[in-house]
Amino acid sequence: MEEKQMVKINSCNVTQCAYNKHNSCHTLAITVGGPGDLCPECDTYMQGSQRGGIIDVQGGIGACKVENCSYNQSLECTAPAVDVGMHESHPDCFTYKPK
Ligand code: SF4
Ligand code: SF4
Repeated sequence: MEEKQMVKINSCNVTQCAYNKHNSCHTLAITVGGPGDLCPECDTYMQGSQRGGIIDVQGGIGACKVENCSYNQSLECTAPAVDVGMHESHPDCFTYKPK
């Protein structure tokens, strides 16, 4: 069986997040879904003056709790890649496609 590669985050425009640099996410893996149920939110989002992440790392999707997305299989993302962006006052997965 082929080993599953982590789905990469193409871009993220949430520049105020600690893990964001140059519209890219730089933490190894984010979690999508929650804390609310309404939107496919990036649950790893961290606002503040502190900067984190690893500059050489392109972020990926670790786990996704958004079961009603067509790309979700067994609570894992199967999209080719995802984009994250600001929606109102929180970051959402913009690749989300309702089933
Ligand atoms: S994907 Fe989430 S953790 Fe990564 S930079 Fe964007 S908001 Fe921050
Ligand atoms: S594309 Fe769908 S399954 Fe993948 S992270 Fe976004 S909401 Fe989750």
